[in-house]
Amino acid sequence: MEIVPTATVASGVMGVMGTEGHEQVAYWSAPEVGLRAIIAIHSTRLGPALGGTRFYPFESEEAAVADVLRLAKAMSYKSAAAGLDLGGGKAVVIGDPKRDKTEALLRSYATFVDSLSGRYYTTEDVGSTVADMEIIAEETPFVTGKAVEHGGSGDPSPATAIGVLAAMRAASERLWATTDLAGRHVVVLGAGKVGGALVHHLVDAGCRVTAGDVSDAALAALPASVEIVPPEKAHAVECDLFSPCALGAGLNPATIPELRCAAVVGSANNQLATPECGDLLDRARVLYIPDYVANAGGVINIAFEIGRPYSWTEAEAAVLRVFDNTRAVLDRAERERITTASAADRIAQERIAKGDHSGLPPREERAPHATHQRR
Ligand code: NAD
Repeated sequence: MEIVPTATVASGVMGVMGTEGHEQVAYWSAPEVGLRAIIAIHSTRLGPALGGTRFYPFESEEAAVADVLRLAKAMSYKSAAAGLDLGGGKAVVIGDPKRDKTEALLRSYATFVDSLSGRYYTTEDVGSTVADMEIIAEETPFVTGKAVEHGGSGDPSPATAIGVLAAMRAASERLWATTDLAGRHVVVLGAGKVGGALVHHLVDAGCRVTAGDVSDAALAALPASVEIVPPEKAHAVECDLFSPCALGAGLNPATIPELRCAAVVGSANNQLATPECGDLLDRARVLYIPDYVANAGGVINIAFEIGRPYSWTEAEAAVLRVFDNTRAVLDRAERERITTASAADRIAQERIAKGDHSGLPPREERAPHATHQRR
């Protein structure tokens, strides 16, 4: 998971909330367990705000607030563009998870989540794990990402990889008039939980695959047919599709002119170093599938854990809709002659503004929050 350099909140928290549309920011302090946490809810127009808990040693309270505001808004857009009836939120716990995370702290944090009465659902993020969610679930029902054996959806990475593959098929349809990826050369940068699973799917689909990673262990786990490239050279390999699945900000003014691919479709969050990089890609004639559209498989899977018994069969069918979501973004970009990044933002903004509740999971099957039972 990437950590993007934080901005400051120059206009004050209420100033940012006013311009960016956040509904609520809540603070929690429990010095007896060393807990300082902030939850930001960007929007609940489409449904309860879902977003992970980032446990990180922020250098200042201001940096933590700036991050939680930015990430909460990003979650609103991701869920809205994914066609989910979910809003966006995020939580930060200020501290070093290796040193500061205790069961007492997690239980106090769960009380904080619970105090928002279901306006915010949490899940894993940088510095928090499935095991943490299991402890939090003992204190509040408003938690997802629990282990499969406890009715949860488990690790979201396999679903994210399936979603990225679906986005690749939609890009292929636009570029080459076929969703069949057989014979395409795909370069995957970052062969971790998502990238590794994606490589296996691509090999099965008949692609030629090249991979780069800083971890020899990650590369060793890949099929023997995969060609290996030094990670710093991966973006410049001549190929059909380049798939950033490691860190954010990989598409920047230095790397974009070196790209030799027809399209970029990957799981990494915040792939564009700045919003202007979307225009640079457009001018370089590289089709960019916006990161939050391509990598929504994980959050779609998690959505099927909220207020209903989780089923992978149902969730998988929804994850495959990343194909249609990608197509909708490409159609909109072509129709309005805007970048794909702007098209995705417009689709998300419109769904949020309309409060359109026709999304997933199907409404009639959703149980009201009040039916949750504490364990
Ligand atoms: P991961 O930690 O399992 O894998 C990341 C891989 O990238 C590792 O193998 C690591 O060695 C490699 N890596 C790190 N720095 C690198 C570098 N400089 N060059 C090349 N390789 C490098 O993480 P993941 O869960 O697979 O997530 C990958 C990306 O996708 C992250 O940006 C994450 O935020 C994003 N994402 C993941 C999910 C999910 O479901 N896991 C969902 C949405 C977005």
